[in-house]
Amino acid sequence: MSAQILDGRSIARDIRREVRLEVAELTKRTGLVPCLATILVGNDPASTTYVRNKVRACMEVGIVSVGIDLPADLPQDALLHEIARLNRDPSVHAILVQLPLPPHISERLILETILPEKDVDGFHPSNLGGLLAGSPLFVASTPLGILELLTRSNVAIEGKHAVVVGWSVVVGKPTAFLLLQQQATVTICHIKTRDLGFHTRQGDILVVAAGKPALVTGSMVKEGAVVIDVGVNRLADGSLVGDVSFPDVAAKVSLITPVPGGVGPMTVAMLLKNTVHACRLACGGASRGGVESVH
Ligand code: NAP
Repeated sequence: MSAQILDGRSIARDIRREVRLEVAELTKRTGLVPCLATILVGNDPASTTYVRNKVRACMEVGIVSVGIDLPADLPQDALLHEIARLNRDPSVHAILVQLPLPPHISERLILETILPEKDVDGFHPSNLGGLLAGSPLFVASTPLGILELLTRSNVAIEGKHAVVVGWSVVVGKPTAFLLLQQQATVTICHIKTRDLGFHTRQGDILVVAAGKPALVTGSMVKEGAVVIDVGVNRLADGSLVGDVSFPDVAAKVSLITPVPGGVGPMTVAMLLKNTVHACRLACGGASRGGVESVH
């Protein structure tokens, strides 16, 4: 078997086109233009690129973005004040703090300070808890992008065995819960999992989000599986690879995401959708969002 490519770039392009129309309709009806504030602390090159991509994507669909660049040695209190100011500003509907933050700043405290109604990254405990309860205001963009990629590619989830490698708050845990909500049977693997290959071979749907190049090889996947490679790893030669050994896994499975061009573009597209949702919340035009929950 040779896998078909799950083309995140092309699906993300469709979503961005839809978001552009949604923004135009929302602005015509309410007079509001969705606005995303991005906060970048320091000048880490990868973070700078991620924020730049998000800002560019906003511009393309008519979302206003306010970029706040702060020095790496900024005191934690100053960042908390900045977030409090954005929380109060009615013209700002969505707030994103680019992670990671410098070590002297508590990421947990910062993420808890963002108003849940403006928390388009979905990392506030009330949104994480809402996901567990089946009614979050926001779900993190990467897990949401993975679900959207599967749905728009007509991958049936209900009743399937989904295996998620990685249990971070950013990717692994919310992805596992989204798949569970779609009534998959879900296995979550982590660093202490014994015999990772035993588990990954059970996966009709396998999501790998570990940040380890070639963690999953051809002998570790089920014939005909659907593989979502979330990993982004830069090798010594400068190339970008995922967590999955692409050639041998692609030879065995039915569908696979490339890196780059798979999950990454979907993450940005879902951030735009979340920002429009935040604007709808601000004008009272939406209640809960992000995902259709079974329970
Ligand atoms: P993270 O916070 O470092 O989490 C990695 C997870 O993988 C941890 O839960 C870890 O388990 C698990 N893990 C690591 N090695 C493992 C192993 N050998 N066997 C089983 N589990 C293992 O990273 P993250 O934020 O979730 O991101 C994961 C990857 O996705 C990274 O490469 C990141 O760059 C990428 N990413 C991509 C996008 C995108 O849009 N494309 C978005 C976000 C992240 P323990 O906690 O038990 O150690």
